[in-house]
Amino acid sequence: MRFLPVFLDLDSGMVALVGSGAAALNKLRLLRAAGANVRWYSSSADVAEEVLLASLPSGRLEVSFSDPLQADYSEFVAVVSAAGGALDEGVSARARARNIPVNVVDRPDLSTFVVPAVVDRGDVVVAIGTGGASPVLARRVRAFIEAVLPARIGELAALLRRHRERFAAVRHKSVSPRRFWERVVDGPIAQAALAGRTQAAEAALTRAISESARPQQGGQDGIVYLVGAGPGDPDLLTLRALQVLQNADVVLYDDLVGEAVLDRARRDAERVFVGKRKGQSGIGQDEINRRMVEAARRGHTVVRLKGGDPFIFGRGGEELAHLRQANIATVVVPGVTAALGCAAEAGLPLTYRNEATRLTFVTAHRADEAAATDWSTLTDPQTTVVVYMGLASAQAVRDGLIAAGRAANTPAGVLARGTRPDTKAVVGTLADLPELARQAGEGPALLVIGEVVARSDAWHTTCSVLAQELAA
Ligand code: SAH
Repeated sequence: MRFLPVFLDLDSGMVALVGSGAAALNKLRLLRAAGANVRWYSSSADVAEEVLLASLPSGRLEVSFSDPLQADYSEFVAVVSAAGGALDEGVSARARARNIPVNVVDRPDLSTFVVPAVVDRGDVVVAIGTGGASPVLARRVRAFIEAVLPARIGELAALLRRHRERFAAVRHKSVSPRRFWERVVDGPIAQAALAGRTQAAEAALTRAISESARPQQGGQDGIVYLVGAGPGDPDLLTLRALQVLQNADVVLYDDLVGEAVLDRARRDAERVFVGKRKGQSGIGQDEINRRMVEAARRGHTVVRLKGGDPFIFGRGGEELAHLRQANIATVVVPGVTAALGCAAEAGLPLTYRNEATRLTFVTAHRADEAAATDWSTLTDPQTTVVVYMGLASAQAVRDGLIAAGRAANTPAGVLARGTRPDTKAVVGTLADLPELARQAGEGPALLVIGEVVARSDAWHTTCSVLAQELAA
């Protein structure tokens, strides 16, 4: 690291900017956006640009047509030059002679500082540098950070700033400031602020601060995130899921959660498998509940990672209820449920104007469950039925639907291992469903029944193969 990133106080003086090309205008924009007072030494100032920039809210802009080499450098906190050629060298030499930080665009050899690529979210500012090696690379890193940083993080920072002093004033000595603020930043208060529920966040923080005035017994509890991991492809994690995974101390995950997703968790996080492996019963729901509470009581940030969405056939509801009862702060992060991920991948629209106007997710884990299901509500030709956990009971699902009155020639499909590398979609009619399930192979898999199956990619491929065979 040749350059140490520092944040310059732009209120403390004037920044001199030399030059008038596109590079100078870029720097002018950046300085003005940061609220700097700028003296712009321009040989041919573009008036329209000048008016536009002068309308920015803060900081002063002076345009000077005098010689920057004759200026009084003692007024400047920094000098930026984009003049090109000998003028750059002269400006750099004068600034350095007075120990004023100087940046010459594209000339690291003449610069004592470089201007970073900036992610600007109000109070939260991220500076990215490559030591002048590659502005393009810096911009790529910036795009990456832009994508993972919560959009309202600046608002969160502003909220914390507003309450800092009051916390410091009222805090009981048994309350650790670090732990207190970690809890705020990692917990529901920050989640509310990041979701734009500013008033709720403000009220909750006010309450937490009042609470901190009382003596605390023992350590403070951590937090549990119930996180949807999506159907398999790690790129289908939500940005929020990624953020909390990056912050986890402990990750409790199910069998539906693959390595590719787990790899996105913080490297030092403890990973605990709590699912069921084929033929084995697993540790059971009570034990999972107990472990979540215990980890949180130890002060950990716990991520309970579940396939798809936690609230769709995922026991997320039961776990939330248990955590609430244990008084553990809990945040639910939704995920892309299997039906949505698989349908998107298969090019299968789950609803369609005038064709599929109702969508039902049902579960049919065992044949007796499928047999006990009331299929009569799902016989309307405009209803798309998605069956979770139905691979082994495809026959009972078919029999139930047909007996209830759904047409045997309704298009139907099995979407297996959706969004994973070994994904497979097979389509046919409701009458064929058990055979389609056999062809699809290993789970996890969804059964989809409805007219819209005929709009899927697999249907188009199958039809063209059939047509070819008929023609042959
Ligand atoms: N909470 C999960 C569902 C858990 S139930 C979600 O929202 O997706 C488990 C069932 O989900 C499996 O039996 C299967 O029917 C379905 N499923 C999960 N992942 C799947 C995938 N990648 N492809 C197809 N079906 C999947």
